[in-house]
Amino acid sequence: MNAVVLRAFGAPENLRLESVPEPRPEPGEVLLRVRACGVCHHDLINRRGNLPRTHVPAILGHEAAGDVVEVGPGVSGWSVGDRAATLQRLSCGRCAQCRAGRNSLCRTDARFFGEEIPGGYATYLAAPVAGLGRVPPGLSWEAAATACCTTGTAVHVVRTRGQVCPEETVLVTGASGGVGLQAVQLARLDGARVIAVTSSPLKVDAVHAAGAHEVVVSPGLDFSAEVRRLTGGAGVDVAIEIVGSRTFSQTLRCMGAGGRVVVVGNVDTGSVSLNPGLLIVKELEILGAYATTSAELDEALGLLRCGEMRPYVSEGLPLAQAARAHGLLERKQVSGRLVLLPN
Ligand SMILES: [Zn+2]
Ligand SMILES: [Zn+2]
Repeated sequence: MNAVVLRAFGAPENLRLESVPEPRPEPGEVLLRVRACGVCHHDLINRRGNLPRTHVPAILGHEAAGDVVEVGPGVSGWSVGDRAATLQRLSCGRCAQCRAGRNSLCRTDARFFGEEIPGGYATYLAAPVAGLGRVPPGLSWEAAATACCTTGTAVHVVRTRGQVCPEETVLVTGASGGVGLQAVQLARLDGARVIAVTSSPLKVDAVHAAGAHEVVVSPGLDFSAEVRRLTGGAGVDVAIEIVGSRTFSQTLRCMGAGGRVVVVGNVDTGSVSLNPGLLIVKELEILGAYATTSAELDEALGLLRCGEMRPYVSEGLPLAQAARAHGLLERKQVSGRLVLLPN
């Protein structure tokens, strides 16, 4: 089969199309014909060698969707022809976290697609069914592939972790990316006032179209004064922090009393300094948000299927253009999600 193989960590050009043996489904797995695979910021971090569980040679990609072409031993409930999309990672289904519905926190089986498990930058993917959701009929492969990591992540941050309520004001940093546009869209759908921050004036229209009431363009990422002005000095109730260390201190300055900061991205993997006094006097809550649960993937696929949310797929590229896709994303030339179309 064709696969984009990363033989050494580093530049986008290290992603090369190769012919490799087709995988066989092991017990508990199905073989998917990959119809689309999203290209995520996580993949850039992975390609650079910043994720310790990935070993080269590696096949990246945790946002795959495709149809089942073979069912491995011991698998029940899945048949040839079923449509599936991957979660980012697996879970055991039995531990305390899994039983509480927080299967993105499972420690028993935390294998990640594109890290320990060869990913979706390939024509075929042997996928453990513990990491799959069912794609409803009528949903495009591009939308299905990106549902988990963009729409599903938005469900996780806006609803599960952020507990956003109607009338609340929500700040979204990194608003023009794949997660950002979906977080803007869902917060608006759930009745919030949405203030979005983007570093690029070229992306304002896309962010407005997703539902932002106000868009703050801040190439230098010094947006807090403008956000405070827009809220009449009160600050925001909830911040969805998608950029991470580069915007974190500005985001904290945007927070109103009792605000919740949901941290879901850290694009350059940097650290932040924090004055605890700021948390104390405003009783701020800082909430991590990691990956998507099975229930959230189902919810995301349902929101997309019924048209309550729309996917933002900017372009579909052949597998051979994986390096170009990474370059475009790295240079911030993508609004929404790029997908690779292996078949
Ligand atoms: Zn992703
Ligand atoms: Zn578990």
